[in-house]
Amino acid sequence: MDSNSSLAQGGIAAVMRPPDTYEKHINDTLKVGQGLSDRKTVEILVRHGPEQINWLMEQGVDFSKHNGMLDLTREGGHSSRRVVHAGDITGFEVQKQLVENVKNNANIKIYEETTAIDLITSEDKCVGIKALDNNTSEIIEFYADTVVLATGGAGQLYSKTSNPLVATCDGVAMAWRAGAILRDLEFVQFHPSILDHGESPYFLISEAVRGEGGVLVNSEKEAFMTRYHPMLDLAPRDVVSRAIVEEQKKGQVYIDIRDQGKEFLTKRFAGIYAACLERGIKMDEDLIPISPAAHYFCGGVKTNEYGETNISGLLVIGESACTGVHGANRMASNSLLECLVFSDMAVSKINDRGDFSERISTGKISDTQKTNDYKKNLQNIMWKHVGINRNIWDIHYAREELDQIYAETQERLEENITVQNIEARNLACVARLVAHAASIRTESRGTHMLTDYPVRNDEYWLKHIEFKKEKVTLADHK
Ligand SMILES: Cc1cc2nc3c(=O)[nH]c(=O)nc-3n(C[C@H](O)[C@H](O)[C@H](O)COP(=O)(O)OP(=O)(O)OC[C@H]3O[C@@H](n4cnc5c(N)ncnc54)[C@H](O)[C@@H]3O)c2cc1C
Repeated sequence: MDSNSSLAQGGIAAVMRPPDTYEKHINDTLKVGQGLSDRKTVEILVRHGPEQINWLMEQGVDFSKHNGMLDLTREGGHSSRRVVHAGDITGFEVQKQLVENVKNNANIKIYEETTAIDLITSEDKCVGIKALDNNTSEIIEFYADTVVLATGGAGQLYSKTSNPLVATCDGVAMAWRAGAILRDLEFVQFHPSILDHGESPYFLISEAVRGEGGVLVNSEKEAFMTRYHPMLDLAPRDVVSRAIVEEQKKGQVYIDIRDQGKEFLTKRFAGIYAACLERGIKMDEDLIPISPAAHYFCGGVKTNEYGETNISGLLVIGESACTGVHGANRMASNSLLECLVFSDMAVSKINDRGDFSERISTGKISDTQKTNDYKKNLQNIMWKHVGINRNIWDIHYAREELDQIYAETQERLEENITVQNIEARNLACVARLVAHAASIRTESRGTHMLTDYPVRNDEYWLKHIEFKKEKVTLADHK
């Protein structure tokens, strides 16, 4: 249950009834992707949406209803009401139900507290995975005809993130080491508002709070969005995030929604009200301290619509994959849909009569090193130099620092295989690549804002940056 999925608040986008249409959902997604989404995969995503929602309901997920019909809400970028949700805890409800069903399926063996370290390859084919038993510190080798990576996002690359501690891009790093192609890594989406209480993981303050009258104010209590955008507090996410970063130079930024009163706030925002209260903040009496934070990793391991990669036997699904649907930016509530649609399609590529075996190595490795220094240092470098507003000079500085950290984390892992050391090496590996990609894309598009090149350049940059080990390729967008 410790995952990005269980934290999803808003919901899952799908065209469930008129007046919404597939064309509208496709066009909205392409627009947000700013010229780099793949039309074919977007069409598959959208057209398979309704059947995935119906499948979840068959699995027992209880979505919110209104007059006996699914209650559809609307979010940023969507031109219709199409977000299916379970209150404001959609991800938790979906994952709770699916986990329960998996546990009740006798054919599925679950290894909890087991950390995948690396893929096992043989003659360019992926044949298994090496993992650490977190409790006994034993190394287990799993062999299988097909390996599916579903290790989620990369929010922990940054000191401020809405993602949980497990979002350390392990699968992306593992796949890269095995020779898989990674794509679109420069596109990291930042959410304008997490509860800025100084400890990771941070709690998300939904856009709906501003939608219901919440106003952004700076340390001088000035409602500053009047100076940034005609849509004020509901301007596009990237505009709001950049405005907040600018105002943070003067001090803490807050959301003020006190005017709405306790009765309304406790009813409309039960989850958020409780989370704030836990930290001593009363939404009806106090200002809510907020900050932008890393939220979603648009890039990842390049796959086709079946989750297949350039490595035979290796499939990747979910946030670790780059299926091409998001392009330069992700539309709200499209990511859970992406997880559902493309994992379902991947099933058709898995040989259900395939072999599976496990081998436990005799060597035990002690877990003594608990240091988080590398991680913190890296997160601060990424936040400061490869964050919301980037510039070439800063990114080059970050690249040098990150190369050094990567070398040190590799050495550390060789000395001692622990969960912390595995994650630190993976974060350093992907941080280097994100910074490298950001230094190559000399334009601003979607989530990638380069202050030296503030304009989108379609003449040259309808391209994807791809990494295969240390080799970088610019692939034309088709
Ligand atoms: C606060 C928040 C709100 C969001 N709201 C929405 C929303 O409303 N709608 C929407 O569509 N999307 C939303 N998203 C995005 C969406 O939740 C994610 O993109 C999606 O859930 C990713 O699913 P996943 O299965 O790829 O990864 P996850 O759900 O993160 O699962 C990955 C799993 O892999 C495990 N893992 C990682 N590394 C290893 C390893 N080395 N060995 C073994 N296991 C490992 C992790 O522990 C975790 O359990 C939100 C995200 C966040 C953080």
